[in-house]
Amino acid sequence: MDLLVEVDVSCPHCGEVFPLQIDTSQGEHTMIEDCSVCCRPITLQLECLPGEVLSMREED
Ligand SMILES: [Zn+2]
Repeated sequence: MDLLVEVDVSCPHCGEVFPLQIDTSQGEHTMIEDCSVCCRPITLQLECLPGEVLSMREED
């Protein structure tokens, strides 16, 4: 099973959407990722099952 799942993240700072790989083996977790467009940090709250992203919330 592929535990890395690609999702589209929409940046709360600049509004751009970019693809990001999520490690779904970590279950419910928070990660901080820099926007690939404006380089500002985005806090992502993720709920995952192995191989599947159940929900994602982007916060600045
Ligand atoms: Zn951005």
